[in-house]
Amino acid sequence: MTTHREPLDSVLDTIAETPLVRVQASPDEVPVYAKLESFNPGASVKDRIGKYMLEQMLDDGTLPEGGTVVEPTAGNTGIGIAVAANQLGIRAVFVVPERFSVEKQTLMRALGADVVNTPTEDGMGGAIDRAHQLAEELDDAVVPQQFSNPLNPEAHYETTAPEIYDALDDEVGALVAGCGTAGTLMGMARYGRERHEDTFVTAVEPVGSLYATHEGRDVEEAEYKTEGIGTHNPATNELFDPELVDEIVQIDDRDTHAEMQRLAAEEGHLVGSSAAANCLAAVDLAERAAAGEVDLPYDSVVTVFADSSERYLSKGVYGDFESWEG
Ligand code: PMP
Repeated sequence: MTTHREPLDSVLDTIAETPLVRVQASPDEVPVYAKLESFNPGASVKDRIGKYMLEQMLDDGTLPEGGTVVEPTAGNTGIGIAVAANQLGIRAVFVVPERFSVEKQTLMRALGADVVNTPTEDGMGGAIDRAHQLAEELDDAVVPQQFSNPLNPEAHYETTAPEIYDALDDEVGALVAGCGTAGTLMGMARYGRERHEDTFVTAVEPVGSLYATHEGRDVEEAEYKTEGIGTHNPATNELFDPELVDEIVQIDDRDTHAEMQRLAAEEGHLVGSSAAANCLAAVDLAERAAAGEVDLPYDSVVTVFADSSERYLSKGVYGDFESWEG
Protein backbone atom coordinates (compact mmCIF):
# COMPACT_ATOMS: atom_id res chain seq x y z
CA MET A 1 0.00 0.00 0.00
CA THR A 2 2.98 2.34 0.24
CA THR A 3 2.54 4.46 -2.85
CA HIS A 4 5.89 6.20 -3.22
CA ARG A 5 6.90 4.69 -6.57
CA GLU A 6 7.75 7.86 -8.46
CA PRO A 7 11.01 9.73 -7.78
CA LEU A 8 10.58 12.32 -5.01
CA ASP A 9 12.30 15.62 -4.28
CA SER A 10 12.76 15.32 -0.53
CA VAL A 11 12.48 12.89 2.37
CA LEU A 12 9.61 15.09 3.56
CA ASP A 13 7.58 13.62 0.69
CA THR A 14 8.04 10.13 2.14
CA ILE A 15 6.27 10.99 5.41
CA ALA A 16 2.90 9.23 5.86
CA GLU A 17 1.19 6.67 3.55
CA THR A 18 2.62 3.96 5.80
CA PRO A 19 1.54 0.30 5.43
CA LEU A 20 -1.38 -1.21 7.33
CA VAL A 21 -0.72 -4.87 8.19
CA ARG A 22 -2.99 -7.50 9.76
CA VAL A 23 -1.80 -8.78 13.14
CA GLN A 24 -1.55 -12.54 12.70
CA ALA A 25 -2.38 -13.22 16.36
CA SER A 26 -5.78 -11.55 16.02
CA PRO A 27 -9.03 -13.55 15.68
CA ASP A 28 -10.26 -14.23 12.11
CA GLU A 29 -13.74 -12.87 12.93
CA VAL A 30 -12.35 -9.52 14.15
CA PRO A 31 -8.96 -8.83 12.57
CA VAL A 32 -6.58 -6.29 14.09
CA TYR A 33 -4.62 -4.05 11.71
CA ALA A 34 -1.45 -2.18 12.69
CA LYS A 35 -0.21 1.03 11.05
CA LEU A 36 3.57 0.65 10.68
CA GLU A 37 4.92 4.09 11.52
CA SER A 38 8.61 3.16 11.52
CA PHE A 39 8.33 3.38 7.71
CA ASN A 40 8.60 7.17 8.07
CA PRO A 41 12.09 8.65 7.34
CA GLY A 42 12.73 9.56 11.00
CA ALA A 43 11.44 6.07 11.83
CA SER A 44 8.44 7.02 13.97
CA VAL A 45 4.87 8.30 14.01
CA LYS A 46 6.22 11.69 15.15
CA ASP A 47 7.48 12.61 11.67
CA ARG A 48 3.84 13.34 10.90
CA ILE A 49 3.53 16.06 13.54
CA GLY A 50 7.02 17.45 12.84
CA LYS A 51 6.11 18.08 9.22
CA TYR A 52 2.51 19.14 9.90
CA MET A 53 3.21 21.55 12.77
CA LEU A 54 6.10 23.30 11.00
CA GLU A 55 4.29 23.61 7.66
CA GLN A 56 1.13 24.98 9.30
CA MET A 57 3.07 27.43 11.47
CA LEU A 58 5.01 28.67 8.41
CA ASP A 59 1.73 28.99 6.51
CA ASP A 60 -0.08 31.05 9.13
CA GLY A 61 2.98 33.14 9.96
CA THR A 62 3.41 31.90 13.56
CA LEU A 63 6.86 30.74 12.48
CA PRO A 64 8.81 33.18 10.26
CA GLU A 65 10.70 31.86 7.19
CA GLY A 66 14.19 30.90 8.37
CA GLY A 67 13.01 31.08 12.00
CA THR A 68 13.77 28.76 14.90
CA VAL A 69 11.76 26.14 16.77
CA VAL A 70 12.69 25.29 20.35
CA GLU A 71 11.08 22.12 21.73
CA PRO A 72 11.65 20.39 25.06
CA THR A 73 11.80 16.75 23.97
CA ALA A 74 14.10 13.81 24.27
CA GLY A 75 12.34 11.49 21.96
CA ASN A 76 10.82 10.73 18.62
CA THR A 77 9.21 14.17 18.38
CA GLY A 78 12.65 15.78 18.32
CA ILE A 79 13.73 13.59 15.42
CA GLY A 80 10.44 14.25 13.60
CA ILE A 81 10.77 18.01 14.03
CA ALA A 82 14.47 17.85 13.07
CA VAL A 83 13.71 16.06 9.77
CA ALA A 84 11.09 18.68 8.88
CA ALA A 85 13.21 21.63 10.03
CA ASN A 86 16.14 20.33 7.98
CA GLN A 87 14.09 20.46 4.78
CA LEU A 88 12.09 23.62 5.51
CA GLY A 89 15.05 25.90 6.27
CA ILE A 90 14.21 26.18 9.95
CA ARG A 91 16.70 26.00 12.82
CA ALA A 92 15.77 23.44 15.47
CA VAL A 93 16.90 23.56 19.08
CA PHE A 94 15.99 20.76 21.49
CA VAL A 95 16.17 21.04 25.24
CA VAL A 96 16.84 17.63 26.70
CA PRO A 97 17.42 16.52 30.30
CA GLU A 98 20.89 14.91 30.52
CA ARG A 99 19.75 11.41 31.41
CA PHE A 100 17.90 10.85 28.10
CA SER A 101 19.10 8.43 25.43
CA VAL A 102 22.30 9.47 23.69
CA GLU A 103 21.21 7.75 20.46
CA LYS A 104 18.28 10.06 19.91
CA GLN A 105 20.37 13.16 20.69
CA THR A 106 22.99 11.94 18.18
CA LEU A 107 20.31 11.62 15.48
CA MET A 108 18.95 15.11 16.19
CA ARG A 109 22.44 16.60 15.87
CA ALA A 110 23.14 14.65 12.67
CA LEU A 111 20.01 16.24 11.21
CA GLY A 112 21.50 19.67 11.95
CA ALA A 113 19.68 20.45 15.18
CA ASP A 114 21.24 21.92 18.32
CA VAL A 115 20.77 20.06 21.57
CA VAL A 116 20.87 21.91 24.88
CA ASN A 117 21.08 19.74 27.98
CA THR A 118 19.45 20.58 31.30
CA PRO A 119 20.26 18.94 34.66
CA THR A 120 18.59 15.56 35.17
CA GLU A 121 17.33 16.62 38.61
CA ASP A 122 15.28 19.46 37.07
CA GLY A 123 13.24 16.88 35.13
CA MET A 124 11.12 17.62 32.06
CA GLY A 125 9.75 20.70 33.87
CA GLY A 126 13.26 22.20 33.86
CA ALA A 127 13.61 21.48 30.14
CA ILE A 128 10.26 23.15 29.40
CA ASP A 129 11.20 26.30 31.37
CA ARG A 130 14.59 26.50 29.64
CA ALA A 131 12.96 26.09 26.20
CA HIS A 132 10.64 29.04 26.80
CA GLN A 133 13.53 31.12 28.15
CA LEU A 134 15.64 30.32 25.05
CA ALA A 135 12.76 31.13 22.70
CA GLU A 136 12.36 34.53 24.35
CA GLU A 137 16.05 35.29 23.93
CA LEU A 138 15.85 34.63 20.17
CA ASP A 139 13.49 37.00 18.39
CA ASP A 140 12.32 34.66 15.63
CA ALA A 141 11.70 31.54 17.75
CA VAL A 142 8.58 29.59 18.68
CA VAL A 143 7.97 26.62 20.97
CA PRO A 144 5.59 24.18 19.20
CA GLN A 145 4.87 22.46 22.55
CA GLN A 146 3.39 19.14 21.41
CA PHE A 147 1.54 18.56 24.73
CA SER A 148 -0.80 21.48 24.18
CA ASN A 149 -0.63 22.24 20.45
CA PRO A 150 -3.90 21.40 18.62
CA LEU A 151 -1.84 20.94 15.45
CA ASN A 152 -0.57 17.68 17.01
CA PRO A 153 -3.94 15.79 16.97
CA GLU A 154 -4.86 17.65 13.78
CA ALA A 155 -1.90 16.02 11.99
CA HIS A 156 -3.44 12.62 12.74
CA TYR A 157 -6.97 13.78 11.89
CA GLU A 158 -5.67 14.97 8.52
CA THR A 159 -3.26 12.15 7.65
CA THR A 160 -3.15 8.99 9.83
CA ALA A 161 -6.91 8.52 10.13
CA PRO A 162 -7.89 9.11 6.48
CA GLU A 163 -5.18 6.66 5.37
CA ILE A 164 -6.63 3.99 7.70
CA TYR A 165 -10.22 4.60 6.63
CA ASP A 166 -9.28 4.55 2.93
CA ALA A 167 -7.42 1.26 3.34
CA LEU A 168 -10.41 -0.39 5.06
CA ASP A 169 -13.17 1.19 2.94
CA ASP A 170 -14.41 3.05 6.02
CA GLU A 171 -15.21 -0.19 7.88
CA VAL A 172 -13.29 0.51 11.08
CA GLY A 173 -14.87 -0.85 14.28
CA ALA A 174 -12.36 0.33 16.88
CA LEU A 175 -9.26 2.49 17.30
CA VAL A 176 -6.64 1.56 19.89
CA ALA A 177 -3.55 3.64 20.74
CA GLY A 178 -1.19 4.39 23.57
CA CYS A 179 -1.20 7.95 24.83
CA GLY A 180 1.88 10.07 25.43
CA THR A 181 0.61 13.49 24.43
CA ALA A 182 -2.57 11.65 23.24
CA GLY A 183 -2.27 13.46 19.90
CA THR A 184 -2.33 10.25 17.87
CA LEU A 185 -5.40 8.78 19.57
CA MET A 186 -7.35 12.04 19.77
CA GLY A 187 -6.85 12.88 16.09
CA MET A 188 -7.85 9.39 14.98
CA ALA A 189 -10.79 9.19 17.42
CA ARG A 190 -12.26 12.50 16.35
CA TYR A 191 -12.11 11.44 12.70
CA GLY A 192 -13.50 7.97 13.51
CA ARG A 193 -16.44 9.24 15.57
CA GLU A 194 -17.35 11.59 12.70
CA ARG A 195 -17.43 8.59 10.37
CA HIS A 196 -19.40 6.40 12.77
CA GLU A 197 -20.57 7.70 16.14
CA ASP A 198 -20.23 4.25 17.75
CA THR A 199 -16.57 3.80 16.80
CA PHE A 200 -15.04 2.15 19.87
CA VAL A 201 -11.95 3.93 21.22
CA THR A 202 -9.38 2.42 23.60
CA ALA A 203 -6.55 4.42 25.20
CA VAL A 204 -3.51 2.38 26.27
CA GLU A 205 -0.96 3.09 29.02
CA PRO A 206 1.50 1.08 31.10
CA VAL A 207 0.60 -0.05 34.62
CA GLY A 208 1.90 2.73 36.90
CA SER A 209 0.80 5.53 34.56
CA LEU A 210 -2.03 7.88 35.51
CA TYR A 211 -4.20 8.38 32.41
CA ALA A 212 -6.77 6.10 34.11
CA THR A 213 -7.37 8.88 36.65
CA HIS A 214 -9.16 10.72 33.83
CA GLU A 215 -11.95 8.17 34.14
CA GLY A 216 -11.99 8.53 37.92
CA ARG A 217 -10.04 5.36 38.69
CA ASP A 218 -7.87 5.18 41.77
CA VAL A 219 -4.73 3.71 40.14
CA GLU A 220 -1.36 3.51 41.82
CA GLU A 221 1.54 5.48 40.37
CA ALA A 222 4.76 3.56 39.70
CA GLU A 223 7.78 3.67 37.39
CA TYR A 224 7.41 1.76 34.12
CA LYS A 225 9.73 0.73 31.29
CA THR A 226 7.42 1.01 28.30
CA GLU A 227 8.60 4.03 26.26
CA GLY A 228 6.70 6.91 24.74
CA ILE A 229 3.30 6.37 26.38
CA GLY A 230 1.77 7.08 29.76
CA THR A 231 1.87 10.00 32.16
CA HIS A 232 2.97 10.79 35.70
CA ASN A 233 1.33 14.19 35.62
CA PRO A 234 -2.28 14.10 34.35
CA ALA A 235 -2.48 17.93 34.52
CA THR A 236 -0.20 18.03 31.45
CA ASN A 237 -2.55 15.85 29.34
CA GLU A 238 -4.17 18.92 27.83
CA LEU A 239 -5.04 17.24 24.54
CA PHE A 240 -6.74 14.21 26.11
CA ASP A 241 -10.55 14.32 25.87
CA PRO A 242 -12.20 11.55 27.95
CA GLU A 243 -15.41 12.02 25.90
CA LEU A 244 -13.63 10.53 22.91
CA VAL A 245 -12.57 7.38 24.79
CA ASP A 246 -14.61 4.29 25.76
CA GLU A 247 -11.97 2.67 27.96
CA ILE A 248 -8.45 3.18 29.27
CA VAL A 249 -6.49 -0.07 29.38
CA GLN A 250 -3.33 -0.60 31.44
CA ILE A 251 -0.72 -3.10 30.24
CA ASP A 252 1.94 -4.58 32.49
CA ASP A 253 5.59 -4.07 31.43
CA ARG A 254 6.26 -7.82 31.62
CA ASP A 255 3.49 -8.58 29.14
CA THR A 256 4.65 -5.74 26.87
CA HIS A 257 8.22 -7.02 26.93
CA ALA A 258 7.13 -10.57 26.05
CA GLU A 259 4.88 -9.25 23.28
CA MET A 260 7.73 -7.20 21.79
CA GLN A 261 9.72 -10.43 21.49
CA ARG A 262 6.73 -12.41 20.15
CA LEU A 263 6.02 -9.78 17.49
CA ALA A 264 9.63 -10.11 16.25
CA ALA A 265 9.89 -13.90 16.50
CA GLU A 266 6.45 -14.82 15.14
CA GLU A 267 5.32 -11.91 12.98
CA GLY A 268 8.58 -10.32 11.79
CA HIS A 269 7.89 -6.93 13.38
CA LEU A 270 10.89 -5.08 14.87
CA VAL A 271 8.84 -2.65 16.92
CA GLY A 272 9.26 -0.65 20.12
CA SER A 273 7.49 -1.26 23.40
CA SER A 274 4.54 1.07 22.84
CA ALA A 275 3.65 -0.93 19.72
CA ALA A 276 3.70 -4.13 21.77
CA ALA A 277 1.43 -2.65 24.46
CA ASN A 278 -0.95 -1.40 21.75
CA CYS A 279 -0.96 -4.81 20.10
CA LEU A 280 -1.91 -6.60 23.34
CA ALA A 281 -4.74 -4.14 24.00
CA ALA A 282 -6.00 -4.34 20.41
CA VAL A 283 -5.99 -8.15 20.24
CA ASP A 284 -7.72 -8.33 23.63
CA LEU A 285 -10.46 -5.97 22.39
CA ALA A 286 -10.84 -7.99 19.18
CA GLU A 287 -11.22 -11.17 21.23
CA ARG A 288 -13.86 -9.56 23.47
CA ALA A 289 -15.71 -8.39 20.35
CA ALA A 290 -15.49 -11.87 18.78
CA ALA A 291 -16.93 -13.32 22.03
CA GLY A 292 -19.85 -10.87 21.91
CA GLU A 293 -18.73 -9.00 25.03
CA VAL A 294 -18.23 -5.68 23.21
CA ASP A 295 -20.27 -4.28 20.31
CA LEU A 296 -18.29 -2.77 17.47
CA PRO A 297 -19.92 -1.08 14.48
CA TYR A 298 -17.63 -3.13 12.16
CA ASP A 299 -15.59 -6.28 12.77
CA SER A 300 -12.16 -4.69 12.74
CA VAL A 301 -9.74 -3.07 15.18
CA VAL A 302 -6.94 -0.69 14.17
CA THR A 303 -3.85 0.20 16.16
CA VAL A 304 -0.52 1.95 15.68
CA PHE A 305 3.03 0.57 15.82
CA ALA A 306 4.71 3.91 16.61
CA ASP A 307 8.39 3.07 16.15
CA SER A 308 11.13 0.47 15.75
CA SER A 309 12.98 -1.62 18.34
CA GLU A 310 16.29 -0.62 16.71
CA ARG A 311 15.96 2.67 18.59
CA TYR A 312 16.14 0.74 21.88
CA LEU A 313 18.59 -2.12 21.21
CA SER A 314 21.14 -0.72 23.67
CA LYS A 315 18.49 -0.92 26.40
CA GLY A 316 18.30 -4.69 26.08
CA VAL A 317 14.80 -4.97 24.64
CA TYR A 318 15.49 -8.48 23.32
CA GLY A 319 17.15 -9.78 26.48
CA ASP A 320 15.43 -10.97 29.65
CA PHE A 321 12.92 -8.76 31.41
CA GLU A 322 15.13 -7.88 34.39
CA SER A 323 17.92 -6.51 32.20
CA TRP A 324 15.56 -4.44 30.03
CA GLU A 325 16.35 -0.84 30.98
CA GLY A 326 13.21 0.60 29.43
N1 PMP B 1 4.87 5.52 21.07
C1 PMP B 1 6.07 6.11 20.99
C2 PMP B 1 7.28 5.26 20.80
C3 PMP B 1 6.17 7.50 21.13
O1 PMP B 1 7.38 8.11 21.07
C4 PMP B 1 5.00 8.26 21.36
C5 PMP B 1 5.10 9.74 21.55
N2 PMP B 1 5.51 10.10 22.85
C6 PMP B 1 3.77 7.58 21.44
C7 PMP B 1 3.74 6.22 21.27
C8 PMP B 1 2.49 8.30 21.79
O2 PMP B 1 2.06 9.22 20.85
P1 PMP B 1 1.23 10.49 21.29
O3 PMP B 1 2.18 11.48 21.87
O4 PMP B 1 0.63 10.97 20.00
O5 PMP B 1 0.20 10.08 22.28
